[in-house]
Amino acid sequence: MDSSYNPSSFEPKIYEKWEESGAFAAKTEVSGHDKAKTFLITMPPPNVTGVLHMGHALFVSIQDTFARWKRMQGYNTLWLPGSDHAGIATQVMVERQVESEGTSRVKLGREAFVKRIWEWKEEYGGTIQDQIRSLGASCDWDRELFTLDDKSSRAVRESFARLYHDGLIYRGERIVNWSSGLQTAISDLEVEQRPVQGAFYHVKYLLADGSGDSLTVATTRPETIFADVAVAVHPEDERFKKFHGKDVIVPLTGRHVPIILDDYVDKEFGTGALKITPGHDVNDWAIGQRHGLTTLTTIGKDGKLNEIAGEFAGMVAAHSRKRIAEKLKADGLLVKEEKHNYELGYCQRTGVVVEPLVSIQWFVKMKTLADKAITAASGEDAALRFYPDYWKKTWFEWHNNIQDWCISRQLWWGHRIPAWHCAKCEKITVPKSYKDADPSVCSHCGSPSLNQDPDVLDTWYSSGLWPISTLGWPEKTPELETFYPTLRFDEARGGKEARALMETGSDILTFWVSRMVTMCTHFMDGKLPFEDVYLHAMVRDEKGQKMSKTKGNVVDPLDVTEKHGADALRLTLIALSGQGRNVNLDLKRLEGYSAFINKLWNASRFALMQLEEKGVKSYQDPLKDTGSLDFVDRWLLSELEATVQKVNSDLTNYRPDAAFQAIYQ
Ligand SMILES: [Zn+2]
Repeated sequence: MDSSYNPSSFEPKIYEKWEESGAFAAKTEVSGHDKAKTFLITMPPPNVTGVLHMGHALFVSIQDTFARWKRMQGYNTLWLPGSDHAGIATQVMVERQVESEGTSRVKLGREAFVKRIWEWKEEYGGTIQDQIRSLGASCDWDRELFTLDDKSSRAVRESFARLYHDGLIYRGERIVNWSSGLQTAISDLEVEQRPVQGAFYHVKYLLADGSGDSLTVATTRPETIFADVAVAVHPEDERFKKFHGKDVIVPLTGRHVPIILDDYVDKEFGTGALKITPGHDVNDWAIGQRHGLTTLTTIGKDGKLNEIAGEFAGMVAAHSRKRIAEKLKADGLLVKEEKHNYELGYCQRTGVVVEPLVSIQWFVKMKTLADKAITAASGEDAALRFYPDYWKKTWFEWHNNIQDWCISRQLWWGHRIPAWHCAKCEKITVPKSYKDADPSVCSHCGSPSLNQDPDVLDTWYSSGLWPISTLGWPEKTPELETFYPTLRFDEARGGKEARALMETGSDILTFWVSRMVTMCTHFMDGKLPFEDVYLHAMVRDEKGQKMSKTKGNVVDPLDVTEKHGADALRLTLIALSGQGRNVNLDLKRLEGYSAFINKLWNASRFALMQLEEKGVKSYQDPLKDTGSLDFVDRWLLSELEATVQKVNSDLTNYRPDAAFQAIYQ
């Protein structure tokens, strides 16, 4: 041993030895003990474009703790790593790259552009894996999977085929978050809410009966008036009772629309009367569905007003607001304009305002799938458990209010939807199984004029299959046979231990954990993909603020490990992981834990030197002959035994922070 603790001089060497010796390899062609006592952790696949950040370092530290602990307890443990193709993130990045070369995605065409992304992936895609290695992660790299690998594609095609032919995948109109910057629908996660200073325009809607009576509606978006299909009031609002059953005239259009009653309307908000524009507002869309209203569209995918906006057609919607307000004023319909601050959704990647738009998308029907997720977590002795337990509430809320899942994205990078449109009969052909080749003729009319759907699947779709695709499903592989858990969603846990742990960030409980549970349970005859879910907190700076480049408070894990070693960083993150919903990373604590490791190093050196002096050649178990030990030795051994028990019980309860404190004290 070196005389001083210098982690950078030995950490990489030790890791190399571990990997070469197969210390991280799980056993699959097994029987007896290795089959009966297995433990699986599927690593949340980091984005292939990703660079290691503290969030990764935290999950690596926690998952590695459990993987190594289970191995020490004699479990045949598989910690399965991989990476995610990260649809939008990757496409946008390579798009910028080709633009800097004076060309564009569209000029290159789909095939050439996708090839460019693959080239990028081959060259740079492994960065994050190497960084995860440098943290000492004991995962089984031989089984590493990428979400666009053939193995993953097979799972995607098979699942799509089954869901489609079982009537659980359908195409339909839906209001989506449309990014005109990316020209695709984006998920709620990719929408950033920012406060804006806007205005409430109080607009007069005259009654259609010619009485001269009117209702006033307050709106922040007068440019959507052209697509109004109703005005809604609360059924018990006394002010509007005289208007029940009547029609109003939509300003600037002359169209007559009904006054409808809906208790979604907040009597206290605005004027108490809402204009209903299902084509451009998520809540209005829901009201429109409830009342069977038609949907009109006035803003196109390019963000401009269309022909129903009359003289305003062709203007960028957001820029037309002032002009439209002026016109309303000229018509005597603008009662007043008042300042109003509210939150507006922006596209995280391009910074454009997200427009709720109605378009034809692919959906998964979620109700029956979600019911299983609810059953799985219900009751004292539920098969599926959450650590910390309070996340169960979010779980139930999400699944009790489940919406159908929009799985199509207008991108090129991803799993292309395995469905073909017939030019002749306009029907859709979907292969029956992953084993079938792409169809050459329409399954309905036999026409050869088939075109594959241009959309790709939401990245979360392949991530949702991750626990089974990584094990080789839909094929019956030894991996699946050995490691896939056996507990069904409707079983009681009883005294059964979890055979698989899902450890991930609490921020993706609904986006990811929910999809894995619903999809995998469906395809694996009701068996859950994991029984324990450990949700870690978000890493923040020492003041509890989100780390961001603009704030300049980002702590790079690689800088830390270079200076203090991976162990110091891992210990710090584990020690802080019990703080609740945030992990506030205090670098002073890190220095303290680094000193602790230094002490361990020196103590080990001292012990080894003593043993050498006394001529002890090899390690002997002191417990074999405790009678020969003196009082101090026996006291030390009993302290050690107590600590071991405490650590085991803390880890069983998913409290790695408490386990560490037991060792630290
Ligand atoms: Zn056809």
